[in-house]
Amino acid sequence: MNIRTIFTFLVGLAIIVAAATWCYCAHSAATSPTIRMKVTAYCPCKKCCGKWADGITASGAKAQGKLIAAPKEIPFGTWINVPGYGWAEVKDRGGSIKRNRLDVFFESHQEALEWGVKYLEIEQ
Ligand SMILES: [Zn+2]
Repeated sequence: MNIRTIFTFLVGLAIIVAAATWCYCAHSAATSPTIRMKVTAYCPCKKCCGKWADGITASGAKAQGKLIAAPKEIPFGTWINVPGYGWAEVKDRGGSIKRNRLDVFFESHQEALEWGVKYLEIEQ
């Protein structure tokens, strides 16, 4: 190896390190933004769902366990981390669930009432 080869190698290494660092920063910046959303809760009862109180979500999945009703911009199958509720899959829609609104599902009306209305920072 002569000096020229070593120099070329070092420059190449520097470019790789710089590129990797840039990629890492760009990636972490892209995953951190949050959006403030109004999060309400519901259960499968008539009070919450009216004529839709059949225990079946808009996606066709059974209304049970943890799930989220989200605006149509968020596709079914998207996982969202709702602080205080946890990770859950978007499986439902709602007439009033539009822009920056989410509805988290509880199996009992009491739990839905206790949740109330929260304004939360949701990770994108
Ligand atoms: Zn209810």
